[in-house]
Amino acid sequence: MSALTVIAGGTVIDGTGAPARSANVVVHDGRIADIGPDRPEDAALIDATGLTVTPGFIDIHSHSDYTLLVDPRASSAIHQGVTTEVVGNCGFGCFPLRDAALARNAIYGVSDAVPLDWSGPGEYLDRLEAARPAVNVLSLVPNGQLRLHAIGLADRPADRDELATMARLLEEGLEAGAWGYSTGLEYGAEIGAPEAEITALARIAARSGALYATHTRRRDEGAAEAVAEALRTARAADVRLQISQLLPRSGRAEGERCLDLVDEARAAGQDVAFDMHTRRFGLTYLYTMIPPDVLARGPDGIARALADGDERRRMKAHRSIFSAGGDWTRVVLLDNPVRPDLARRTLAEIAAEDGRDPFEVAFDILADTLDDLPRVMAIINCYEEAEQERVFAHPLSMPGSDATALGPDGPLAEATFHGAYTWAAWFYRFMVRERRALTPEAAIRRLSGLPASRLGLDDRGTLAPGMRADIAVFDAERFTETATTFAPNQLATGMVHVLVDGTPTLRDGQPTSAGTVLRRHRTAAPF
Ligand SMILES: [Zn+2]
Repeated sequence: MSALTVIAGGTVIDGTGAPARSANVVVHDGRIADIGPDRPEDAALIDATGLTVTPGFIDIHSHSDYTLLVDPRASSAIHQGVTTEVVGNCGFGCFPLRDAALARNAIYGVSDAVPLDWSGPGEYLDRLEAARPAVNVLSLVPNGQLRLHAIGLADRPADRDELATMARLLEEGLEAGAWGYSTGLEYGAEIGAPEAEITALARIAARSGALYATHTRRRDEGAAEAVAEALRTARAADVRLQISQLLPRSGRAEGERCLDLVDEARAAGQDVAFDMHTRRFGLTYLYTMIPPDVLARGPDGIARALADGDERRRMKAHRSIFSAGGDWTRVVLLDNPVRPDLARRTLAEIAAEDGRDPFEVAFDILADTLDDLPRVMAIINCYEEAEQERVFAHPLSMPGSDATALGPDGPLAEATFHGAYTWAAWFYRFMVRERRALTPEAAIRRLSGLPASRLGLDDRGTLAPGMRADIAVFDAERFTETATTFAPNQLATGMVHVLVDGTPTLRDGQPTSAGTVLRRHRTAAPF
C-alpha cells in the first residue's frame, strides 16, 4: 500500500461528538492529512461507500497484558474496530516481576506459553513491542504487582520500607512510559492495602499528570462506600480518577448510589469518570465459595472439610461473590467436564429438583473437582438491560472489554474471557440501534475521543488533520456481536476495514498487520 491512501465515500464521524458528514479521509505516512471533498488521484483507494468511518476504538479497560504476547493478532479486538488497548487495569499486569510464580496471582490469562522471564517495565514493554501486536497498547502500572514485589501475598499494610519500594517501582513504571496507576482492591494481592497506602502512591501518579484507575474494594454489599473511598483517595492525592466497572453486583439501588456519588463529586469539581464492562453477569470459579483458610489446606484438607457437616455449615457463612443476596436463581453453571449434565442451569433449579440446599449441591460438585478446582465456573446474573442502558447513557461513562484479546484460531482458541468478542459490538448494537439511547456520534465518542482524553492521549481518538491514522470503517447497520454466553468465541461482524497508524490491520474483513507500544513522555504531559 502506498504512503498516500484515501478512504472515500463514507460517512465520517470524528469522535468529538460532532455531527456525521460525508467526506473523504486522506491518510499520509500514518497520519490524517485531510478530511473533505478532495480525493487525490495518486492515492490508494479504500472504498467506504455506504460505510461509517470513525476513529479506531480505544479499549480503556483491557486485560490483554499477557495474551498479546501469546497471540499478538488480537482478532477478537480488531474485528470490533479496536486500535488501542489500555492494559495494566485492576492492579493486574505484567510488571514489575520479582518472583514469577508469585506474579501469576495478578496476571490474567497467564499460562506456560510465554515464560515470565523479564522484570522491569521497560523490559516488558520491549517484549510486547517485539511481539508486534495488531493493536496499539499502553499500560498502567498495576498495584497488584507492586505489592507482590514488595510484600508478597501478605494480607496487611506495607511497612515504611515496603512502601518506599513500591513508590520507587511506581516511579520506574511511569518513567518507562506507563500512562497511570491502577488498583484492584478487591483482589488477594491488594486486599491488605489501606486507603493511606493507596493515597501515598496515587500522589506519585498525580505528580506526573497520570491517571489513577481503580477497581474498588467492594463490588457487592458496601460498594457505594468503596466508591466513596476511591473519590476520597483521588481528592487527597489530587489525581485524576477513573473508576473501573462502576456498577456493583449487588443490585440496582446500590448502583444508583454509586452513580450519585460520582455525579456529586463531578459537580463539586472533581476530575472523575468511569468505565463499565458490557456483560450482564459476574463470572468466577465455583471454588471461591470455599474460604481461603480451607483452600490453603490443599486438596486433602479441602476434601476433609467438604465431607464434614460442621465445616460445611461454617463454609456457608463465608462471604463470596455467590453469597451476595443469597439468590441462587442468579447463579448459572457454565459448561464443564465435571458435571456436564448440570451445565447452563441455575443452582436454584438444580437444588429444587432434589429438594436440596443449593450450598450442598455446590459443595458436592466441588468435592468432585478437587484435583483441578478451576474446571468449574459459574456466572452470577447481576444487571438488567435497563440498568445497562442507564449506565452507558451517563455522560461520564465509557465501555471497556474488561477481558483479554483472544482469537478463535491459534494458541488462544480454547481460552474464554466473556466480553472479549462482544463488548464494542454489543455497545453499538444495543445503545445505538436497539435502544436508541445514544446517537451514533455520541456512541463513537465514548469509544474513541472520550477515553483518549481521559488518558491524555492527544494524537489519537479523533479524526482530524495531523492526528495518527487509527481508523475503523464499518457497516453501521450490521456491526454486531455474534458470540453468546455459552458460545463465547465468535468474531463480531460488520467491521470492514481497520487501520492502525495508517496501516490496515483488517482489510475487507481479513486481518493483516501490526500496531505498537505507546509510551507516555512525562515531560510532554499536558496536565
Ligand atoms: Zn478489570
